[in-house]
Amino acid sequence: MILYTLRCTHDHHFEEWFSNSGDYDAKKDAGELVCPECGDKEVGKAIMAPNVGKSKSAPQPSPACGTPMGCGGCAFAGQH
Ligand SMILES: [Zn+2]
Repeated sequence: MILYTLRCTHDHHFEEWFSNSGDYDAKKDAGELVCPECGDKEVGKAIMAPNVGKSKSAPQPSPACGTPMGCGGCAFAGQH
């Protein structure tokens, strides 16, 4: 048995078991692969690449250090 992660055109991901790689093609041709969330039959194998297009590494703005009350932990504390 092979577990494939499938994806519909609405970017829903779900998992489906197949007996072999030909079973996937057979079920797809027969229209048996349906997204459980939206009923879409345009389903394909999802590419296993986590975090594609979902990066949360946006840089955090540095804490303001120019104010008298916000400079306690700054490396320049006491120097400005
Ligand atoms: Zn869907």
